[in-house]
Amino acid sequence: MPFVITSLCIADYSCVEACPVNAIGPHPDDREFRAAEQLYIDPAKCIDCEACVEACPVGAIFAADRIPPRWKGAIALNAAYFSERRND
Ligand code: SF4
Repeated sequence: MPFVITSLCIADYSCVEACPVNAIGPHPDDREFRAAEQLYIDPAKCIDCEACVEACPVGAIFAADRIPPRWKGAIALNAAYFSERRND
């Protein structure tokens, strides 16, 4: 199961630097970065290494199969962020 970023995210970007497979976006050089409310994890790229969990200063990242019920909507939001861009 991939990891998922919830709306607790403050977009400080430390998780992006920790990710070994570039699964987290948007990047600061992306057009969407300024408007993004949070960062997201691409479930098609995530290899479940957990490096981002330790890097996150606010505890915003969970494994999809262990995410607290109140944040379950984040699973679809993270996936949709990347699927919409693949279809552009
Ligand atoms: S769990 Fe690992 S591969 Fe998945 S987003 Fe976090 S750092 Fe990247």
